[in-house]
Amino acid sequence: MPSLQSVISCLSDYDPSALPVAQANRIIADVVEPVSGVEQLAIRSALDRVLAEDVVSPIDVPAHDNSAMDGFAFDSAMLSVAGGSEVALRIVGTALAGDAQALVPGKGETVRIMTGAVMPAGCDTVIPQEFVKVDGDTIRFAADAVRAGDNRRLRGEDLARGKPALAAGRVLRPADLGLLASLGIAEIKVRRRLRVAFFSTGDELRSIGEPLDPGCVYDSNRYTLHGMLRRLNVDLIDMGVVRDDPAALEAAFRTACENADAVITSGGVSVGEADYTKAIMARLGDVTFWKIAMRPGRPMAFGRIGSNGREALLFGLPGNPVAVMVTFYHFVRAALQRMMGADAAPLPLMPVRSASPIRKKPGRTEYQRGILQRGADGQWQVRITGQQGSGVLRSMSEANCFIVLGHEQGSVAAGELVDVMVFEGLV
Ligand code: AMP
Ligand code: MG
Repeated sequence: MPSLQSVISCLSDYDPSALPVAQANRIIADVVEPVSGVEQLAIRSALDRVLAEDVVSPIDVPAHDNSAMDGFAFDSAMLSVAGGSEVALRIVGTALAGDAQALVPGKGETVRIMTGAVMPAGCDTVIPQEFVKVDGDTIRFAADAVRAGDNRRLRGEDLARGKPALAAGRVLRPADLGLLASLGIAEIKVRRRLRVAFFSTGDELRSIGEPLDPGCVYDSNRYTLHGMLRRLNVDLIDMGVVRDDPAALEAAFRTACENADAVITSGGVSVGEADYTKAIMARLGDVTFWKIAMRPGRPMAFGRIGSNGREALLFGLPGNPVAVMVTFYHFVRAALQRMMGADAAPLPLMPVRSASPIRKKPGRTEYQRGILQRGADGQWQVRITGQQGSGVLRSMSEANCFIVLGHEQGSVAAGELVDVMVFEGLV
């Protein structure tokens, strides 16, 4: 892995005290590399896992030309032979799905066919049954009711034998499991799960079940982190709350990096922080402390720490509950996906009208919490959730999207388009 120092030294305009979001992400992407390790899994167990090898289709899917409708199969040459406006064909048999097809209709003949049944030899077109009049063993239909090749699925049109079906790096979704099954593939190779250790720091933090002493807050960051990490399908090592005590912190960092690929902490990375977190992070490895030009989430530590010959990537996130979520989604998520070997596209930003004005200063990226909904005119619009303080976790709970206001962007007028990143995903 390239060292943080070597990556940073290549940047001409590097300023750790006012680092643009895009530059921080570029540094992270340059430092992070996929972990090695592959396992073989039954396809049902591979949901949300990262495919470790290209899958090439061993068969044609479908294996034969077949009918897309219940109807009558025939040779389209007979459409023009008919000359007039009506075609009349004699039924010589029935083709059911799953039958090996032996029928060979001749001139002026047709085969009654069901959806999925193999096309009889010489037939290239199916007229749906609702378009024909059946008269004894003869069907009649208008010649212009169908064109040559209609309602026929071609062999290999879904997946052709020898062609790539899924590429390594794919995070497997429900459709992919079905696709693998359609190829008859029972097991596939996936990357091993990432191990991520996380803990909270701060003397004011109490765990659920403990009395809330004066001046204290319950530790919520470990729970949001738990949820966000679960969504990424990593193995979690929840190390609890670690007190602002040098020995306890050092032991926690060492245990974390000896047992995990990545370590995520929250709190203790602010400027003028009266604790030991930053000093210990710096002592255990190659760590840099950033003030990122963003809101919320300004302070962040990033680097690699080591102990007893084991190394882990470190993300020291801010303490404020919204800042933890924002920095996780906009820095950590992509980095962990990269470590998992996932070839994940950046999440789309969609332009939506802002229902009201939003104040914004150029020179930093803002991630306001938004509610995307249809306005009275039926058009989608977005409004902020209300109080945007980095400690107001309710804003994340109420929101269904981030309103991403770019680095250069200034204030937004009501009705102007803003970029929105939607929380909810179908698959
Ligand atoms: P810090 O970054 O340590 O200065 O913390 C910033 C703010 O976030 C302070 O108000 C902390 O009390 C709060 N905070 C830090 N860690 C947590 C946590 N795990 N859960 C909830 N609030 C936290
Ligand atoms: Mg603190």
